[in-house]
Amino acid sequence: MKRDHTKLICDVSELIGLFVDTPGLEAFLQKIAEMVSEHMGSEVCSIYLFYDETQELVLKATRGLKPEAIGRVRLKVGEGLTGMAIKEMRPVCERNASKVPGYRYFPEIGEEVYESFLAVPIVRGQTRIGALVIQNKRKDYFDAEDVQAVRAIASQLANTIEMAKLLIGLEEKREYRAQEAVIQQPARIACRVGAPGTAVGKVVPGDRFYSLQEFVEAAKNKKYSLEDFSAAVRQTEKELEQAQFQIEEKLADVASLIFTAQILMLKDAAFINAMADLIKKGTNPPAAIARTVEQYVAMFDKLSNSYLREKRQDVQDIGKRLLANLVGGKGGSADYQGGVMVVRELYPSELLKLSSEGIRGVVVLSGGITSHVSILARSLEIPLVIAEAPQLLRLPADTQIFIDGEHGFIYINPSRDVMAMVKVPEKGGPAKPPARHGEKIVTKTRDGTRVSLLANINLLCDLKHAQVIQPDGVGLYRTEFPFIVRSDFPTEEEQYIVYKKVVDALGDEELTFRTLDIGGDKVLSYYDYGKEQNPFLGMRSIRFSLKHQDIFIQQVRAILKAGAKADLKIMFPMISSLDEFLEAKAIVLECVKDLSQEGADCHRRPQIGLMIELPAVLEIIQELAREADFFSIGTNDFVQYMLAVDRTNEKVAEFYLPHHPSVLRSLKKVVDAADMHGKEVSICGDMAHDERYILYLLGIGLRRLSLDPSYIPRIRALIGTMDLRAARRQTARLLRCEKIGEIDKIIR
Ligand code: PEP
Ligand code: MG
Repeated sequence: MKRDHTKLICDVSELIGLFVDTPGLEAFLQKIAEMVSEHMGSEVCSIYLFYDETQELVLKATRGLKPEAIGRVRLKVGEGLTGMAIKEMRPVCERNASKVPGYRYFPEIGEEVYESFLAVPIVRGQTRIGALVIQNKRKDYFDAEDVQAVRAIASQLANTIEMAKLLIGLEEKREYRAQEAVIQQPARIACRVGAPGTAVGKVVPGDRFYSLQEFVEAAKNKKYSLEDFSAAVRQTEKELEQAQFQIEEKLADVASLIFTAQILMLKDAAFINAMADLIKKGTNPPAAIARTVEQYVAMFDKLSNSYLREKRQDVQDIGKRLLANLVGGKGGSADYQGGVMVVRELYPSELLKLSSEGIRGVVVLSGGITSHVSILARSLEIPLVIAEAPQLLRLPADTQIFIDGEHGFIYINPSRDVMAMVKVPEKGGPAKPPARHGEKIVTKTRDGTRVSLLANINLLCDLKHAQVIQPDGVGLYRTEFPFIVRSDFPTEEEQYIVYKKVVDALGDEELTFRTLDIGGDKVLSYYDYGKEQNPFLGMRSIRFSLKHQDIFIQQVRAILKAGAKADLKIMFPMISSLDEFLEAKAIVLECVKDLSQEGADCHRRPQIGLMIELPAVLEIIQELAREADFFSIGTNDFVQYMLAVDRTNEKVAEFYLPHHPSVLRSLKKVVDAADMHGKEVSICGDMAHDERYILYLLGIGLRRLSLDPSYIPRIRALIGTMDLRAARRQTARLLRCEKIGEIDKIIR
């Protein structure tokens, strides 16, 4: 029987009139859900509200789904079909929802059986208010008239819901805050994956990580002695030595004296005596520790130095460790071990420390999936996700949290069902590829074209699975990582030792060193950049190297010596002009000359190339191709600079689109120029491990992809299924597209 839409629309207006009598917005929404579902003959009707603060849709009322889903089901803009409706501000109607790419259902609320799906955004002008969703088990249930009717209802509801929200805004806010403060019940939050993998553990709240007063407060009723304090100092020292030892074992190349600054502080008589004196004068030891640490922090704050943050944190970290060892409970190293850190932002150097202390996973609130902390987390095999959900920062320590970095979800207090659903994979590296022992694996398309899969490496530990994965060499060695955790620039000799280890680990395979690429999100704690308004557009990368030629020369000399017998390539990051490239190249050639004159064992003819990361090079690509030995396309930055989208800013992540037509066409232009001059070209940004783009990359002629080693087996298998003719067809189609939306549909 045909549904009576007129009656429905009338009833809704009646209901709006009745709103004053309902106890609150949620009861009102529930009535609407019930009424709509009845009139539409739909088994499910749900209402979501949109929250600007978190940019999330939250399920507020439902008829048909399990009531416990209310408040728990949260969707990001663009997530699932409902998220899509709110993102694109249009109705989404599907006759067979489970077959639609991007469909998300929540098994825990019994949603999977409903095939007919209609989501209509509730909007006022360009303001998103919420979404109305109806679902039915029978396929093909909703027709165009239904869409029109639900649209009409949604538009009627928009004003009223907005009004209601205004009227009870305060109450809503209070509730919202309460909900933010404690997400005690199981909850699921969508996130973006910076480093894949799964991790379960107790929350280590990073932002409260240094709250000394909490310890003092907790210990105020207990009296401690000077002897207790001394024991805590000894224990802390032991812990730090242990942490230092572990990092040396695990990360040989960054094993600078990362924890020794703190060990030194503990040995500093002035620091320890300041606390001991207070204790002797009658201050309870926890308060004495906190007061002294705060004084030191205040002193550091007065120094207008850029490495402040790190020094400040070192002192605060010591304070926290001392207090934890004195009063027990949270804060000691046991806190990190097996924990999942939830923190607003994190520097790569901080992640290195956490890794050596056994952190299992990380949730950050800001940062992008191509940011360097994500890239480093992949090297360290620490699952890292990015969730724009500030309420996570208020999770109490010890809350159970599960990071599903395979599908992009965080579960808070996961239910047994969820835990059973999710299989935590065994650690221990990638699956063995199908090759017989000792046989070199060759990557080929289905029709037999050879493709080189090279590895991106950041740390020596990236090479530990090399024998299993068998990359065709290293297409990008980000040399800056061994620089970032030190307290000063490593000397030529120190660099040589690290680089030589990489060379030895690789054997005969080619090895591409990228010279220092610091700045942006890779800050050196020991270098004062001064205040930069826009570090990503600041004194970074090759600009830094050309400005500080002493540092650059030391690095180049170390590379040339370590790579004396290697198949050596050197490339410069962020080249913006022919002038810059030629200047950097001349320095390398000068170093070769000097080393040869000194009689040093060094590489005499390294290949010298550049990274294509700035749109500025497109118009001079022919000249660069003439001068350079090779190109390597760094799409992470190329996309960032071409589209003016900060790659570390989660808020603009939806604009970070490697398949923007300008990006795709530019890539072709670069490859064509290299081909024309008979030069090698590879791609080493994250596009090289994104399955959606591989066909295109092959189609424009790329035969060298450099990617994180863990992705190599998967991409190798995928290439094995691809056909070059199909790739060229796809490429031609994509190059004709004018709009992002058209490309989106094809690559999806
Ligand atoms: C890139 O920009 O694509 C790249 C590979 O370099 P990084 O990610 O280190 O900036
Ligand atoms: Mg880059």
